[in-house]
Amino acid sequence: MNIKRNILLNPGPATTTDTVKMAQVMPDICPREKEFAGLMRQLRADLLRIAHAPAEKYTSVLFCGSGTINIDICLNSLLPANGRVLVINNGAYSSRAVEVCRYYGLPHIDLKSSVFAQPDLNEVERTLAENPDVAMVYTTHHETGTGVLNPIRQIGAMAHRHGAIFVADTTSSLGMIPFDMEHDNVDFCMASAQKGLMGMAGLSFIIGNEEIVRKSQEYPKRSYYCNLFMQYDCFERTGEMHFTPPVQTVYAAIQALKEYFQEGEAAKFARHKRVMEAIHHGLEEMGLREAIRRDIQSGLVASVRYPDDSNWDFTCIHDYCYERGFTIYPGKISTTDTFRLCALGAIDEPDIKAFFRTLREAFEAHGVQVPAKYDED
Ligand SMILES: *Cc1c(COP(=O)(O)O)cnc(C)c1O
Repeated sequence: MNIKRNILLNPGPATTTDTVKMAQVMPDICPREKEFAGLMRQLRADLLRIAHAPAEKYTSVLFCGSGTINIDICLNSLLPANGRVLVINNGAYSSRAVEVCRYYGLPHIDLKSSVFAQPDLNEVERTLAENPDVAMVYTTHHETGTGVLNPIRQIGAMAHRHGAIFVADTTSSLGMIPFDMEHDNVDFCMASAQKGLMGMAGLSFIIGNEEIVRKSQEYPKRSYYCNLFMQYDCFERTGEMHFTPPVQTVYAAIQALKEYFQEGEAAKFARHKRVMEAIHHGLEEMGLREAIRRDIQSGLVASVRYPDDSNWDFTCIHDYCYERGFTIYPGKISTTDTFRLCALGAIDEPDIKAFFRTLREAFEAHGVQVPAKYDED
């Protein structure tokens, strides 16, 4: 079978290999068969290895849903009665966590700061000192909306000094930027199969401290479908998801993990870096400017400012590229118009070079000036 290869420069789902796509084509199976439970048991163990989470202390729990289901589950399941959540919020994904708190009526502090910068750790420390009822500190590791990387190790250490657990949304970093649950002071992290792992959408997972998961059995139950302990307990007793798993997506994830370990953590990280270097280089050549300082970037997302050119129209440029197999994505910064170019997925430097040839053509076709014009000049 010949499957057209599209280069996805959006922040996930990412470009996948044909072998991952084809892994979904399998004989029909009832997921309640022991054979399928065995596959999920191995998958859960392999996910721990990616997060460097020793199996004696950590567990991984799978869910059927997109990545946001993890945010929902961690917040509603891991907050004891009388506890408060502190959300360290410098972007769209932490704002989503604040919204989840609001929907469940969870007591929370929204420690909001500029989306163009990392959070101020002194302010985090002060907030924790002033609010001893904070039982959970929550933040996003890589704010995919901007590309800012947050200092989780320091934030986790502060949370622990103040007796709180630390939950990090690592949806857009796990499997790309190497990290270590223990060393980085993370009690719970999360991701979905279609980002760093280069699998298919529909399977998400939480990796966390098993003792805390067990303790959460005593916490208020705020959701039926999205409860962490309930799903964990079901996996431990039966090896299965409580409800129907996304069978074909699980097959794809298993193949994706096989390819992850074949490529290797360090080589994969180096490839993502190489892709982002090529993106930075291509942007510079076209005079396009970024919204976020290089030294706080994750190396996985570039937020590119719209040129101040009357012929610029994101949709037209997007459509030109899309018709030629390249997907670019709108930004998520409310005060500045940006689009995003991301280094996720099964792509490499030559794909980015080919993309910039197409982008340049798109500019020419629509009369957008190269090098790009900006009013501040
Ligand atoms: C992609 C992403 C999510 C999940 O988004 P879904 O659309 O639900 O898959 C959550 N957090 C971050 C940081 C993300 O990048």
